Amino acid sequence: MIIVLTPQATDKDVDELTDNLKSRGFGVHISRGVERTIVGCIGVLDTEKAELSEQLQALPYVERVVIISKPYKLVGRAFRPEGTIINVRGVEIGGNRLTVMAGPCTIETEEQLMETARFVKQMGAHILRGGAYKPSTSPYSFQGMGKDGLKLLAAAREETGLPIITEVMDTRDVELVAQYTDIFQVGTRNMTNFALLKEIGNTNMPVLLKRGWASLIEEWMQAAEYIASRGNYNIILCERGIRTFETYTRNTFDINAIPVAKELSHLPVIADPSHGTGKASLVPAVAAAAIAAGADGVIVEVHPHPERALKDGPQSLRFEAFAQMMERLRALAPAVGRSI
Ligand code: PEP
Ligand code: MN
Repeated sequence: MIIVLTPQATDKDVDELTDNLKSRGFGVHISRGVERTIVGCIGVLDTEKAELSEQLQALPYVERVVIISKPYKLVGRAFRPEGTIINVRGVEIGGNRLTVMAGPCTIETEEQLMETARFVKQMGAHILRGGAYKPSTSPYSFQGMGKDGLKLLAAAREETGLPIITEVMDTRDVELVAQYTDIFQVGTRNMTNFALLKEIGNTNMPVLLKRGWASLIEEWMQAAEYIASRGNYNIILCERGIRTFETYTRNTFDINAIPVAKELSHLPVIADPSHGTGKASLVPAVAAAAIAAGADGVIVEVHPHPERALKDGPQSLRFEAFAQMMERLRALAPAVGRSI
């Protein structure tokens, strides 16, 4: 259940309530909004809810108690109605300004990464992406540069000032990747890797959680809840397309998922039109559609020579195409009340 406190509630009230709930064996999560504090209480049995709710309602600093029947509570909209803004080295994700994350699918060489980082920065990107640990369908394809790739990413951040995002696939790599990255990426194949979600939940690092390619939106929300339930609320949702009967595009970008996720959750939502389409020519249009639908930003793959890319070349934007996409988003942003 969620306990909404009055705007007058003091820190002492919050402490008193927390102690009260913890002494009964419940988990307590606190969301401090601008206007009021909301307390999430986890672990209450259905049979206890009505009575507990009545008791809490009687407290002078409690405005109302909301019983949440959904299996995700901490990431649900009611827990933070005003929405979550995640600050990554000064870049706000989920605020009025749209966030553009861009870079190669996979880090291949220092030159490839640096050239791309400089260009996307120049064009106004806010965050640099690059894969060092790659989830490959085939065990024989390139698996990524690993730690050497992380070092190159950190060097690119050093030079450009862009915060970085990279994928982590294995619980054993969480500690190492955390030493380099600013945002963890959990890929589509790992959305239901609960051990990984829990490990990331134990950190306080921002994480971009991609929707599983065959996952229901509600399963995606529960994956986010796994992370939040460990105390890490710095979660960014990412729609990257799902598998349908259509094979013309690599995946089917589920545009519905954008407003649905914004409605269900308070977390920022980012769109990945690169994996959502698999075709560079379609990326700018789907990026624009996602922004129009309410996404808080996009993550796109950019490569100086897509024809030579070790991974995801067909969906990687050339520099020129990235520049054009930025121009398009810049024109669109004010129409949906956003800046970029
Ligand atoms: C990627 O971002 O390069 C990637 C592998 O994404 P996804 O997990 O969405 O396939
Ligand atoms: Mn990729």
